[in-house]
Amino acid sequence: MKKKLYITASGRVNTNCYIMVDEANNNCIIVDLPDETGEQLAEFCQQNGITPLAILLTHGHFDHCGGVAAFLREFNVPVYGHANDIELAKNASKNKWRVRAEDCDITNFVNDGETITIGDFIIEVMHTPGHTMGSVCYFIEDLMFSGDTLFHTDIGRTDFAESNPAEMYKSLKKIAKIEKDYKVLPGHEEYTTLKEEQENNVYLYIVNTPTMPPTNRPIKKVSTSSSPLHRSRLLPWHPRQGIERSC
Ligand SMILES: [Zn+2]
Ligand SMILES: [Zn+2]
Repeated sequence: MKKKLYITASGRVNTNCYIMVDEANNNCIIVDLPDETGEQLAEFCQQNGITPLAILLTHGHFDHCGGVAAFLREFNVPVYGHANDIELAKNASKNKWRVRAEDCDITNFVNDGETITIGDFIIEVMHTPGHTMGSVCYFIEDLMFSGDTLFHTDIGRTDFAESNPAEMYKSLKKIAKIEKDYKVLPGHEEYTTLKEEQENNVYLYIVNTPTMPPTNRPIKKVSTSSSPLHRSRLLPWHPRQGIERSC
């Protein structure tokens, strides 16, 4: 089956939004829907005759779910996510950075080790708490949607009230042990591969070092300058075709 992946970075903190289209029927699933992106994405689907089947959330931060409500006004689809992030998503509009985002209701819960089928999409779920307690990674064929758990040469912050550094340590240990290689599509910035991260990402290296005990202090803390979560650039919403491949 041939699938097409559209990628856009949008919202206040430039969050990646992934639109995976099954070319046989033009159905799609969406992984994360950033703040200020819902209307444009709905328009994009309408203009291209794409039928969305579901939204998958990697976690409940506003920059990953703040655009869901606007999108649902055009397309009524289920919203998948982990139950631990219900409250976070439900309060997306009250984010401490005062970024304009709408609250989001998770309607379908995902669990660690579960395989979910949506249309012809087969999605494996790995619960990777740490950045938030409801953070998950989704695996579809050779793609890994890693949210804010794993980035290229980096990991997500663990110094928020909703974070847990010890859980992040355990999650990274799980990720470090995955044997299959995946193209890693993170919640922010550029793409990478799992193999490359397992070899070069210092955080994955650290969790594999037996002398390094789990810490109760944040593994990752960003001293904030002007940007709330990550390096921030405001870009116009512009979906582009990232990867086209036969599956
Ligand atoms: Zn986050
Ligand atoms: Zn994020």
